[in-house]
Amino acid sequence: MANIIVVGGNFAGLTAALELKRKLGSGHQVTVISKSPVFVFIPSLIWVPFSEREIKDITLPVEPILSKANVKFIHAEALKVDPEKQKVETTKGTYSYDYLVMATGPDLAFDEVEGLGENSNVSCICHPKGAMETRKRWEEFVKNPGPVVIGAAPIAGCSGAAYEFLFNFEQQCRAAGIRDQVDITWVTPEPFLGHFGIEGIAGGEAMLKVFMKMLNIRYITNAAIKKVTGDEVILDDGRHLPYKFSMIMPAFYGAKVVRNSPGLGNQRGFIPVHDTYQHKVYPTIFAVGIAADYPVSFHTKVPLGMPKTGYPADESAKTAAENIVRLIRGEKVLKEKPMGKIPGLCIMDAGKKEVLIVTNSLLKPRKFAMLLPNPLYDIGKRLFEKYFMWKTKNGLSYLP
Ligand SMILES: Cc1cc2nc3c(=O)[nH]c(=O)nc-3n(C[C@H](O)[C@H](O)[C@H](O)COP(=O)(O)OP(=O)(O)OC[C@H]3O[C@@H](n4cnc5c(N)ncnc54)[C@H](O)[C@@H]3O)c2cc1C
Repeated sequence: MANIIVVGGNFAGLTAALELKRKLGSGHQVTVISKSPVFVFIPSLIWVPFSEREIKDITLPVEPILSKANVKFIHAEALKVDPEKQKVETTKGTYSYDYLVMATGPDLAFDEVEGLGENSNVSCICHPKGAMETRKRWEEFVKNPGPVVIGAAPIAGCSGAAYEFLFNFEQQCRAAGIRDQVDITWVTPEPFLGHFGIEGIAGGEAMLKVFMKMLNIRYITNAAIKKVTGDEVILDDGRHLPYKFSMIMPAFYGAKVVRNSPGLGNQRGFIPVHDTYQHKVYPTIFAVGIAADYPVSFHTKVPLGMPKTGYPADESAKTAAENIVRLIRGEKVLKEKPMGKIPGLCIMDAGKKEVLIVTNSLLKPRKFAMLLPNPLYDIGKRLFEKYFMWKTKNGLSYLP
């Protein structure tokens, strides 16, 4: 009997665990260790500040989902992995594994920009607590509007979510009747609008320029945010951008447990894997979703991260699960699905409008890439959220 531990229980972790159990059946033990007792549909956090979603609408307890599938759940934080001894030390004891899947997502690299972080005036919507704090700030801002700076820090890999927040924020200002008192500046490390950390998509830059012009949003590309104070965002070229409200998407590190485990990850805490998601040094360890390292080959003036979004997180988890099953069955050939070649499928919600992004491959070279703007309403991501919550609640991890 193989004993498989999955650390992390959100997009990639849940998928990996449920797929492993579905494919292996009852003869093997699959255990999820996660510090969060709930699954969070993170893409909908962009709506929480504007009270369009409550946290309870976008979370599900993971224990019932896993126990129904005969997967054991341990609500604990993994502290350290010993890849040589094949052990995971957690806040609730130490566990041995035959195979380990690391699906621990990111830690937020606030310390890379002076002034960012928990005590800062700058908002962060990457987790439920930050989204709720942003709601408080938004409600104050409506009573006392002023200049706004929204953007992403150098190396941030999730600029798409910051764009979504920008356009939703602008639309909410109009809905609140304060738009004429609000000057909005978009600050991005991208070399051009719509690079998204994937070298752009044909037509994307032109479309975003039209959006910025139409919505009267100023923008600064190649921007390296150096420091934030209580009322200014400061760029490394010396520009000071005053703000009454600001939301900056930070860069990511790999999770602390990876950074605390010698030999497991690289300097930023991401785990080097082959195209099979198997660790480059330790064949019993797999890493999926944001936890996996995927170096990009393009260079930009201000460094950018690649967006390891929900779809690649799920696909990498399915590939790793399949490969662990093959290893347990004694097979030698593993399935390869490099993250950069996974199709890009994304709906960018832009506040009462949306853009569907479809590419055959996340990174270049691509055979096709398509942007479909819908300027009239934003229904796609809302429907997708309902589908994904239903699929997750029912443990249907094999669905797309
Ligand atoms: C605001 C925002 C909006 C986004 N919008 C979109 C979108 O529209 N479309 C899209 O495709 N993607 C979007 N993304 C990206 C998407 O959220 C990620 O791709 C996805 O969350 C990655 O899944 P993951 O499982 O790798 O990591 P996560 O979802 O971050 O899960 C990591 C899990 O590991 C747990 N964990 C971490 N450390 C430990 C530890 N030491 N011990 C135990 N458990 C641990 C965490 O508690 C968490 O449950 C967005 C991201 C953000 C921040």
